Amino acid sequence: MTRTPQTGGGPPNPGESIDPDGSVDPETTESLSARLEAAAQTRLGRSLAIRHVNTGSCNGCELELRALSNVLYDLERFGLRFVESPRHADVLLVTGPLTRNLRTALEQAWDATPDPKWVVAVGDCAVDGGVFKGSYAVLGGTGLSIPVDLTISGCPPPPARILAGLRSLLEANART
Ligand code: SF4
Repeated sequence: MTRTPQTGGGPPNPGESIDPDGSVDPETTESLSARLEAAAQTRLGRSLAIRHVNTGSCNGCELELRALSNVLYDLERFGLRFVESPRHADVLLVTGPLTRNLRTALEQAWDATPDPKWVVAVGDCAVDGGVFKGSYAVLGGTGLSIPVDLTISGCPPPPARILAGLRSLLEANART
């Protein structure tokens, strides 16, 4: 069974944003970037740094994450960027089911991330184990190990939905 690639379609024109369903929405155009920037500045005083942690993914979610950095989605224009160390991160973005072998690694990443910090579980597997639920090697979702602030469902979730989720996290915390 196949489906249309989530990264299909041409790149948006300058100033255009992308809605959670993956289509370009010209009406919300510049406001997304401006709101994200304002939220990040209010809460954090800087851009939002994201550390990706894979606890046992099939790599499907990783393909969609990678697309966030391409010219179509261009994550960094919203003040969001991936970093290599949890010590430099504001957000732990977790993909894959929580496997027995990687539980300790996830908890070490959580401990190493400075406060304030948030955890985003991306993909059905990170939410509750997804299609791997019941496997001897899988404990369940990310929440069994560390507190989760936001879940983004889908198998895999499209890049635009991930981007919208990160935006909602920023805005919600900016209001607190
Ligand atoms: S949610 Fe789907 S694409 Fe993502 S890791 Fe699980 S099985 Fe793979």
